[in-house]
Amino acid sequence: MKKIYFDNNATTPIDPEVFDAMMPYLKEEWGNPSSIHWAGRGARKAVEEGREAVCKLLNCTGLELIFTSSGSEGDNHAIKGIAYAKKDKGNHIITTKVEHPAVLNTCKALAKDGFETTYLDVDGDGLLNLDQLKSAITPKTILITVMYANNETGVVFPIKEIGEIAKGRGITFHTDAVQAAGKIPLDVQKLGVDLLTISGHKLYAPKGIAALFVKRGVRLVPLIHGGHHERNRRGGTENVAGIAAIGKAAAIAMRDMDKEAAHLASLRARLEKGLAERVPHIKINGHPEKRLPNTANVSFEFVEGESLLLNLDMKGVAASSGSACTSGSLEPSHVLLAMGLTHEMSHGSVRFSLGKMNTAEDIDYLLEIMPPIVERMRGMSPLYAGAK
Ligand SMILES: *Cc1c(COP(=O)(O)O)cnc(C)c1O
Repeated sequence: MKKIYFDNNATTPIDPEVFDAMMPYLKEEWGNPSSIHWAGRGARKAVEEGREAVCKLLNCTGLELIFTSSGSEGDNHAIKGIAYAKKDKGNHIITTKVEHPAVLNTCKALAKDGFETTYLDVDGDGLLNLDQLKSAITPKTILITVMYANNETGVVFPIKEIGEIAKGRGITFHTDAVQAAGKIPLDVQKLGVDLLTISGHKLYAPKGIAALFVKRGVRLVPLIHGGHHERNRRGGTENVAGIAAIGKAAAIAMRDMDKEAAHLASLRARLEKGLAERVPHIKINGHPEKRLPNTANVSFEFVEGESLLLNLDMKGVAASSGSACTSGSLEPSHVLLAMGLTHEMSHGSVRFSLGKMNTAEDIDYLLEIMPPIVERMRGMSPLYAGAK
């Protein structure tokens, strides 16, 4: 059976170059980077080089980077770290309705300690209204956390403009850039952010390694207390092989980003145009231009997204929907609902997230198998019979 992977926003395969870069630290160079003897020296060097490479991608200094275990940890560290560090100044956080659960549930959890969160709306294209952001700010606002690019739709938010608003009001600004990393430029100086999260496994490095940029001078309460690792900001012996891997992944992203973005954009256009020509009653979700080049979120009217995914899986195609399957009941995507889609259209949506290994042949295979699958599924829908 063919195996085609269109779920790169969920996780990416490990780039062979990245795999080669991390292997020595699982074999010969197994030392503890904190050790001053021979066994630790190679490991320490790997940590320093990995840090330097990630800093180049973000355009920051080594003092401004904390390695974490995941993007979720980075988001938690940024949000809780700022909330507790600034709790004497205020208790108000601003975010959006379309964030990743790592942000939404962190803000929710802070409610028990008296923090209050405003969740900004998005419009039908998935975009924010910056006037709503400005009017949400109060003297108690200590943190704005807004994602760079949405994992479900690929919609990109105007981080630079939000950074200017935050700065003008003396508010700390964090962005979850997990989906943006490697796909669009991530210069923290140009973006004007105070904190920024990335994660290795969305960037062709393995799971279990990620990084948080913390601008010089920004004080953060640690999430994990321990030794002197990461300048006392995150306890725990460094994930040396993971750091070597994310460093390599960052270097590759810098080297190949322009070429890859063009490749992904042309594949995505082929996919969206092809589907629109072959399958009636579909809607492409998210602003047509202000989007990552790799993500296509498509609603298929009169079709149940989960069943569509199962049918695609049987043909070897891996994609996903925004729905979370919780205790047998399917909750529609919070992102699509916030964009004003009906429950039916949200349930009928599928996310195709392309990656650098995908080819035009992969897209053409999808375009070949999709129309009969959708037609067969709609044939069983009484609603479709009525609509035809
Ligand atoms: C995947 C993802 C995360 C979480 O990263 P992990 O490393 O899987 O914990 C956070 N934010 C966004 C936008 C993501 O896509």
